[in-house]
Amino acid sequence: MRRRIGPALLVSLLAAAALLVPDPAGGFGTVDGGGQHREHERITRAALACADGRRPGDGCFAPATLSQLAGEGRGFGAVGAPDRTEVNVPAAHCDDGDFLSGGYPRTRDQATAAIAACVEHLRGRFRQAVRGAAGLLGPHGRILEAEVRLDGGCLLVEHGEQRAKCTVLEEFGRALHGVQDFYAHSSWADEADPARPIGPANPPGLNLPAPSPVLDLRGSGAPSVPADLATGCFVLQDTVPGVGACAQRITHAAVNKDNGLIDPVTGSVSSPGTPRGQVGRNFEKAVTGAIVESRHQWRELRDALRAEYGGRKAGAMACALTHDDPPADCGGGDGRTTIAALIGFALILGVIPMSSGPRRPSR
Ligand SMILES: [Zn+2]
Repeated sequence: MRRRIGPALLVSLLAAAALLVPDPAGGFGTVDGGGQHREHERITRAALACADGRRPGDGCFAPATLSQLAGEGRGFGAVGAPDRTEVNVPAAHCDDGDFLSGGYPRTRDQATAAIAACVEHLRGRFRQAVRGAAGLLGPHGRILEAEVRLDGGCLLVEHGEQRAKCTVLEEFGRALHGVQDFYAHSSWADEADPARPIGPANPPGLNLPAPSPVLDLRGSGAPSVPADLATGCFVLQDTVPGVGACAQRITHAAVNKDNGLIDPVTGSVSSPGTPRGQVGRNFEKAVTGAIVESRHQWRELRDALRAEYGGRKAGAMACALTHDDPPADCGGGDGRTTIAALIGFALILGVIPMSSGPRRPSR
């Protein structure tokens, strides 16, 4: 959930500056190493893979498509894209929304503004996904084969990717990264350490479930932010207590639940890796929240497609986005498929009365 340090950057940082950075910050991780275990990928898989015999469609994604969304092997996937290109954009990771009542270097309004900036950033990604889905279909609502191919894997848009399915997955994946980070980087779902006094090193936890109304990505108004909701202040030297711009403040290091082991099938967790994640069931709550929220946002995206394009086109878009071979798997109103369906329907209409009507005596 908080993956600030990109892969290439991480490698060079570890090599060159490991001694200067006592405990490199991650959000939920996107790589294996440096304390990360590809948490974003595993959360995304636990949330959206087709398991238990479910077929790709409404709630889940087929394997090759899911790998583009979640990442695989060394690939970051769409959900890891912010760790490649938005490492230093706090809004992409819901950072810097820190506040504590009773004498604090920042005001509640400043913290709320930072959280609202995150929501607004993710709304932008979500809207881009809705807009981009138009490119999946041709003028008659047919799925365009060239726009849904995944050959060679998706590139990033800023590296020249133009296929509609890849670009929609990227925008949606970036939105998923941010909402997953929200659970790892904020006090929404966790609890404070009961053994220590409340303070910047141990802010209150709200212990709230997902989905969070704060993450209303289809909305346009200011999100309603609870008075005690905080995310962590982040600078490269991420410590408790904070230093530099984060001095006297709740830091990412104090509040994050970024790291630990996650089963990509069940979403069950073990070995929480951060101090806040080790309090009670905090890591589990963050991961469960991220999984529930990711499923919720996929439902929201389908609803948004329906509102924007109508049910028939939205259905074809969702099919194209979740299946590995959409031209074959989605029908898509293609001529031959439609004719075959009509013939089948006519046969059923004709056959049922014949077989259920009174039988004439046979001669
Ligand atoms: Zn992140």
